[in-house]
Order: sequence, then C-alpha cells, then structure tokens
Amino acid sequence: MTTPDITSGIAAIDHHSHASMAGFRTVEQIERHFSTAHLEANVAPEVYDAFILARNRGDTLTLAQLETDHGTERLMQQGVAFRSTTFFSRALRQGCQLLYGPHQDQDSLAQKAREWGGRSPSYTYDQALKAANTPIVLVDVPYLDRETWNPAQYRQIMRIDPYVYPFHNGKATLRGTEFQRFHAGFAAVLRSELKSHALDDPPLTFDAYLQFMDASIQRRVQNGVIGLKIASAYVRPIDFRPASFDDARASYEALAVGKDADRRPMENFLVQRAAQYAADNALPMQIHVGMGHPEPGMLIANGAPFLLETFLNIRSLSRLKVTLLHGGYPFSSDMAALVQTYGNVYLDFSWMPYLHHYYLRQKLTEWLEILPANKLLYGSDSGAPEFHVAAASYAREALNHVLSDGIQRKVWDARQAQWLARRVLFENAAEIYRLD
Ligand SMILES: [Zn+2]
Repeated sequence: MTTPDITSGIAAIDHHSHASMAGFRTVEQIERHFSTAHLEANVAPEVYDAFILARNRGDTLTLAQLETDHGTERLMQQGVAFRSTTFFSRALRQGCQLLYGPHQDQDSLAQKAREWGGRSPSYTYDQALKAANTPIVLVDVPYLDRETWNPAQYRQIMRIDPYVYPFHNGKATLRGTEFQRFHAGFAAVLRSELKSHALDDPPLTFDAYLQFMDASIQRRVQNGVIGLKIASAYVRPIDFRPASFDDARASYEALAVGKDADRRPMENFLVQRAAQYAADNALPMQIHVGMGHPEPGMLIANGAPFLLETFLNIRSLSRLKVTLLHGGYPFSSDMAALVQTYGNVYLDFSWMPYLHHYYLRQKLTEWLEILPANKLLYGSDSGAPEFHVAAASYAREALNHVLSDGIQRKVWDARQAQWLARRVLFENAAEIYRLD
C-alpha cells in the first residue's frame, strides 16, 4: 500500500537554516567537511591542527607535505568512505537528484551545480526553496546581505553568543577544533559590532558594555532580525542561572583589566539580559540542544535539555517563546518532556530530516502523540541547498508516514492529521514569529 501524501500542497517554513553562510561547495567538499573525526583520531593533535589550518587557508603545499609525512589525505578519504553508509551521505546524493534533476551521473550533476553557483550567490538556494515549496526560511547567520537574498523569503535570526564572551581568548585544551572555531566566530561578530558602535575594544566598565550591547541588538533587530539564538552549548553547559548585577560587573571589570575571574556570573547575566529583551519585544529565542558536529570539542553533556530548567523557570521570561533545536538528539524524549511542561517552549526537529530516517519517524510519532498541536516545528538546518531539498522531502515523507500510521491506529482522524501537517510545516512557525 502506498502512503497517502498528506503534506502535499502544504507550504513549509524552514525554522532553522544557515542559507547564505557558506559559499558554493561541491558534494565532495561537503562530505569532507563532515569527515574530519576519523583523521583527528588517527594523527597527533598538532598534525590535525596544522591540517585544519592549511585546509582553511587553501594552503595546498602544506597539505601535500602533511600527506607525505602523516598520510592525512589517505585518512580523509578513508573517513569519507566510512561515512558513505550514513543517512547524511544518502540524503546529500538524493538532494542533488531532487535539485538538479534525476538520472544524471555525478559529473553532469557537478557541472550543473557549478553553472548554477556561478549565476548569483543566492540562485541555487532560491531554486531549492522553489523545489521544496518553502516560501520562508529563517537563517541563522551573522549578517544577511539583503540585496542578494530576498528579504521577504530569507529572514534573519541572530546569535547573542558574541556578546556573552568578551575578553575570551578562545583557547582550549580539548581535542579537535570545534570549541576554538565557535569562539573565533563569536569574537569576529563582537569585533564587527564594536566597530559599528565606534569602539575598538569592549569598554572598561560594565555599564558602558551593557549600553553597547543593548544598542547593538536593537540596531540589528531594526535591520530585520526576527529572532535571537543561543549556540553556547558548543562552548559551555547551557545551565544559565540567574546572576546578580554586582557579581556580573565584578567579573566583567576584573576580566577587562586582564585579571583572572570566574566568567560565569557575567555570562549568565548577559544571556538573561538578552533573553529579557527578547521577551519584552516578542522576539522568539532559539536554543541549540543536543549533540554537535562530528568532531570532538563540544561536550555533548553540555547540551542536555534539563540543564535549561533553571533558565526556563525565570518568572520574568514566562512569555519568552523558546524553540529548542534539532530534536535534541540524543535527548529527544527529555526535550519533549520540557516542551509539554512549559507552554512557551517549542520543539524544532531541524537537522534530523537528513541525519535520521528511522529514528525521526519513531520520534515524530512519540512527539505528536504527547505534545499539543502548536508545539512542533519543521526545519532543515542546512547551509547547502542540496540538503534543503533533501530535508524538506524526507520530512514530508516522514510526516506522511507517521500521520497515516496514526490514522490507522485510530490516534487521529483524517481531519486532525491534515491539521497537524499544516501546523508542523507552516502554521506553528508563522504564529511564533508573527509571519504573514
Ligand atoms: Zn544549525
């Protein structure tokens, strides 16, 4: 029996994406980008660091030397080969077929991708949105060029993390490069924001810093930001607890003059201040929970959903709309428990449609049965247009499967199943972000 196409004709809002963040990348480049864990685990840490540095700089001479001395290229190719059976790899290839046309060999697909990539920076992504019936995509990027990227379709979400780590040197003794990479990204945005407010460095007094931070967030919201995001699970535990102004100031002003101090009171205070701004201005807040990229550096336990309970219990934030990202894998049931407890907390399952096939269906069934109809949000979490179409297609397939199975098991009637499909794909995000 074929599965009824319940989601057919329903437009989807992509609740979490990184469209516009990366430039054109080939399928091979995307696969290699996510295959570094195998290399990291088979060479000395210094060799790995040198490899990543050379790769990022496009330094082919150093890369060739590393291959001669340490077999880095051979290990990378092994890593890609081992990952070829992941659903990620399958989804990437399926995305190419869906986007560039079926039944083509790899060479003609690659040629078409290059040709489209050359037309304009947004051309391929625009085509992906068309193919996937995605009228609106919420993009988590530092800045969005609104001349190139249609501002009606691409709506910006901004991270607050750059404001939370002033005076951080971004160094770590952890394995891999994830921690450093995230801190470097945060620091770059902070530098650019300080510059926009005629500052070279974070000011010496906490008062002046707060004035800068408020003005900077406000300016970006006026320029089109429609929601805030916390990505800090990549660099610290997400147990943001209330901190006093005095403790935060003491911490900030010690760090400002190069003294050692506990950073947490300052970080927690800054997170809560940004969250309060969001709550007061009806801006939703996305929070990364669950695992990160396939490379060491992020501690997975730092992204466990229950760490958020202290933050979620702050009374003045009771009306802040909080969306927890990525289905919280591997804490997907923990996340649902939070979402069913707090009326202002929502569950986004971006990323999952191109990482999990079977598990997504299991979890969608679990979530749809326990959660109210207004709680689930579809998202792609893709930076590559090929993944956008793959995620959209697999999410629709999974919803079709799970909803018709639920009808057969007499959990929902056909009308309810239709309603759930519209809520998950479009209406929930439209309501939370007040999109027309
Ligand atoms: Zn993401």
